[in-house]
Amino acid sequence: MRILVVEDDKDLNRQLVRALGDAGYAVDTAFDGEEGHFLGDTEPYDLVILDLGLPKKDGISVLENWRRSNRVMPVIILTARDRWSDKVSGMDAGADDYVAKPFHMEELLARVRAQVRRATGHAKSEIECGPVRLDTKSSRVTCNGQQVKLTSHEYRLLAYLMHHSGRVVSRTELVEHLYEQDFDRDSNTIEVFVGRLRKKLPNDVIETVRGLGYRMGPGGDAV
Ligand code: CA
Repeated sequence: MRILVVEDDKDLNRQLVRALGDAGYAVDTAFDGEEGHFLGDTEPYDLVILDLGLPKKDGISVLENWRRSNRVMPVIILTARDRWSDKVSGMDAGADDYVAKPFHMEELLARVRAQVRRATGHAKSEIECGPVRLDTKSSRVTCNGQQVKLTSHEYRLLAYLMHHSGRVVSRTELVEHLYEQDFDRDSNTIEVFVGRLRKKLPNDVIETVRGLGYRMGPGGDAV
């Protein structure tokens, strides 16, 4: 899952990037509204955290522009604590949730998880594919009740496939959603990570759909 953080406060931006990175997300970052708008308009984010008070272009305008051009990713806005009207205009501009500053990082992370879940059609914080269970809250993976130890990139890949279970996910899509913007992207590395996951999980859990990509969970015949 790949997240964009648009926040001009450098310290807060850094804290957000670190916390989200630790939680297993790929994170891109912008420090003003123009840069943030551009990234959100051109890159396929799974979620955006958007401050409203931004230099160059305010957060409400950024959000309105995204929604006008049919960018539908979940957006959590950051508002000042006592500005209830900001929350109203933010939600009306197309935000999915808000967090008022100052906030506890744990609360923001829980809201991020909830939005990512909802956007991919999951109501529960645990996602199951056959014997494999992903606890999105703790970032733990178990198989038949036994914990499976994964590297951060293996986890990212498995979490993406499990959030999108039942659907064929292409290598290109995986590359776009698992790595930061500056990462040296190579779709061959996806195959390497899939190979490693298959060694740690029952071999048939990740299905290769020839020429199209990978699928986990119920799917039936290749489309
Ligand atoms: Ca600000």
